[in-house]
Amino acid sequence: MFEDLIKEMERMNGLSVSVPIESDENGYIDKQCPSGDCEFIFKVNSEDWSVIFKDEAVWCPLCRHEAPADQWFTIDQLEHAKDEALVVVKGKINNALRAGAKKFNRRQPKNSFISMSMKVSGGTRRTHAIPAKAAELMQLEIQCESCASRFAVIGSAYFCPACGHNSVVRTFSDSLRKIRAKKASVEVVRDALNESVGKDEAELTCRSMIETCISDGVVAFQKYCEGMYEPYGNAPYNAFQRLEQASDLWKAVIQNGFDRWLSGEEIGALNILYQKRHLLAHNEGIVDSKYIQKSGDNSYTENQRIVISGRDIELLVTILERLGKGIEAECSNA
Ligand SMILES: [Zn+2]
Ligand SMILES: [Zn+2]
Repeated sequence: MFEDLIKEMERMNGLSVSVPIESDENGYIDKQCPSGDCEFIFKVNSEDWSVIFKDEAVWCPLCRHEAPADQWFTIDQLEHAKDEALVVVKGKINNALRAGAKKFNRRQPKNSFISMSMKVSGGTRRTHAIPAKAAELMQLEIQCESCASRFAVIGSAYFCPACGHNSVVRTFSDSLRKIRAKKASVEVVRDALNESVGKDEAELTCRSMIETCISDGVVAFQKYCEGMYEPYGNAPYNAFQRLEQASDLWKAVIQNGFDRWLSGEEIGALNILYQKRHLLAHNEGIVDSKYIQKSGDNSYTENQRIVISGRDIELLVTILERLGKGIEAECSNA
């Protein structure tokens, strides 16, 4: 009576249950970085996944971890696949038992004194897997400028998952976006901290958030310039952290310095912000004579502490954005 089950078990030896993965409405499938420290979730265009992506290597858009293409299932997809495999196996065992019971019941002689019958509870069970559902859509869709593959992320991405390419232009605009987002969320953070840990902590944290925006901007622009400058040779170490030197370096190769895109007043304002960053990084924000001399900022006297306002951040981001666009246009003309 267990022949059907035994036969089914033999058939199931080495059975592979294939669990399909659905793409979302935009045609993207979920992937997740296999590096335990990262586990970044992103999406790739399903057509590109089969045409452009290579089996040997896929890169994480956030940490650039590299692994073969079959290692990028999301944790949710793997959990779902495990559950489905179990459902399929249980379904096959159940159905084999039912078939066995049916045969057993049929074989009972009609006129015997004792009649026996077998019953396997429940109806027939499904023996196919249900596809893994796609996670919700991701807003930021990106196309790699190098290999043209399409992928989507939440927040920002530094590397193309199909070729590992790092887009200097996109990274810069992501960084500026991040600075604006940070500035915009200061008041929300302040409210939350006021209630949970008190006003002192809230004030310290929010001031630090605003102040770090300045160095975030300076570093983002430095990295951007270094990347864009690469075709023209090597710039001296940290040269793009200094405004005048940066402007001169560009003038030498694309015939345009920063005065091409900024008024004298704007260059002055940008210079003050750069000098403020220097003070924050090296003198805990305390004004010294060097600052006054280099920035031409007469609103402070020595030993005061500088103040960074939300307006400073907006000005910095707006000016850097304009410089970035100007440089990009000249570089693509070259
Ligand atoms: Zn990663
Ligand atoms: Zn690419």
